[in-house]
Amino acid sequence: MKSYAIFYPLIFVVVQGCAPRPANIELVYPNGAKKALIMSYDDGLVQDVQLISLFNQHNIKGTFNLNSGLLGQTNTWKRYNAPDMVATYVSKDSLVSMYAHHEIAAHGYTHLNFAAASDSAIYNEIVTDMRQLNKLTNRGIVSMAYPFGSSNERIAQLAGTTGITNARTVASTLSFALPNNFLLWHPTCHDSVANDLAMEFLTMSNTKLAVFHVWGHSWEFDDLKRWDSMVSFCNTIGNRNDIWYAGAGEFTAYVTALNNLVVSDGFVYNSSLHQSVWYKRGGRIRELLIGKRIRAKTIANL
Ligand SMILES: [Zn+2]
Repeated sequence: MKSYAIFYPLIFVVVQGCAPRPANIELVYPNGAKKALIMSYDDGLVQDVQLISLFNQHNIKGTFNLNSGLLGQTNTWKRYNAPDMVATYVSKDSLVSMYAHHEIAAHGYTHLNFAAASDSAIYNEIVTDMRQLNKLTNRGIVSMAYPFGSSNERIAQLAGTTGITNARTVASTLSFALPNNFLLWHPTCHDSVANDLAMEFLTMSNTKLAVFHVWGHSWEFDDLKRWDSMVSFCNTIGNRNDIWYAGAGEFTAYVTALNNLVVSDGFVYNSSLHQSVWYKRGGRIRELLIGKRIRAKTIANL
């Protein structure tokens, strides 16, 4: 009996030494950053060409929300408190090359105001737009911006039945917090005030993941002051390692996978069927593959 008392503590120490110890992990975006930038632009007028060129110089990714029923047209827009504007939409056959490095998203087939439309009309506007854009580009369309920014809980629920995973409004939050509802996604701000928030975004030391979600229209950059302001914004915020430049669709898919991580019994399990997630432990960035688990007690920043 005496010998057990001597050897048991020794065996216990050896077993403990072999087992990997569960530890906390910190979630990050796919490039290891904890800040993301989304640039969401509406209507698909020819001024997108110049904006895309600027984005490409700065490694910035845009999400371009298009009305497929208006592509190739030239229309005159009546504007409130401003002269009429000639609006030239990009052509159908230019989409693939023009938006090659950017996300193509829906904006309603004909830019119908959803607030004044029936459920069936809204549904048709969204689904027809998605199908047409898919046909023209052979891409899956998962993102949308509400035409006129017009939405509410009911419309958002309806949008969620179409296959759209995320839909943006025009209500500024002036916040970098992740959205509560991707189908009623209020952005950080319009691009006319983005410069005011840029330094705060770059210098903040955030524990939780953050997103700077900017929206606008490339045709507004016909005003040279506004264009200069966007150039300055891209100079400040582009080409950085500490920012993930994402399309709204890939961002939504990623954050949804993070939200679906299962933490149980000292493990974190990636339950997603399509999406790896990335985390930091001990200063190193690691990938948690689809359907895999790692030892970890808690997630530090979820
Ligand atoms: Zn619009």
